[in-house]
Amino acid sequence: MNFAEIRLEDKQRALAELRDVKRLFADRNWFAGTSGNLSVRVGDYTPESFYFAITASGKDKTKDTPEDFLFVDRHGKPCEATGLRPSAETLIHTEIYRLTGCGAIFHVHTVWNNVVSEWFWERRAVPVDGVELIKGLNIWEEEAHIEIPIVPNYADIPRIVPEITARLDRNIPGILLRKHGIYAWGRTPSKRSAIWRRSNFCLNMYTAGSC
Ligand SMILES: [Zn+2]
Repeated sequence: MNFAEIRLEDKQRALAELRDVKRLFADRNWFAGTSGNLSVRVGDYTPESFYFAITASGKDKTKDTPEDFLFVDRHGKPCEATGLRPSAETLIHTEIYRLTGCGAIFHVHTVWNNVVSEWFWERRAVPVDGVELIKGLNIWEEEAHIEIPIVPNYADIPRIVPEITARLDRNIPGILLRKHGIYAWGRTPSKRSAIWRRSNFCLNMYTAGSC
């Protein structure tokens, strides 16, 4: 499938979903400065061919404008003529889509996920034990234990990509960048916000305990 074959209404739905999530997160002050990026995949998927809508680089995400999002391909290149640039971290989105085939990816920088990523840096993962919300990740064992991976952060984004490739756990829909932020993803649009809230809950739990 090429980009032109994807139905217009599917593209518009992806943009509407992104706008909704952007407002939700902006209301929570999760976009410090122009940081953070959101994406929703459209059309058919294979690891070698997919498309998604993503937040444009350098925009104030507390405002809604006609320049908030653009569509890119699996290389992170714009699919249409545009003066907009995709988020600087688009290559991380492309790698997560390639590895998981998920439907949407959210990334924000918050104080809490920065604190937790440093706290557990030597372990390279945040352990989460027996938390009820783990069920929301489709893990149903009593006293389940999961580890949310932490990867190093580099100013040069392409250097982060192989770290994601090496550490992403297909059973855990989230990954932390050390002293940077969290990426979380979901298979369907309706599940992605729920997964996001659960991941964030697990991280907030630690930081609340330390205060
Ligand atoms: Zn970031």
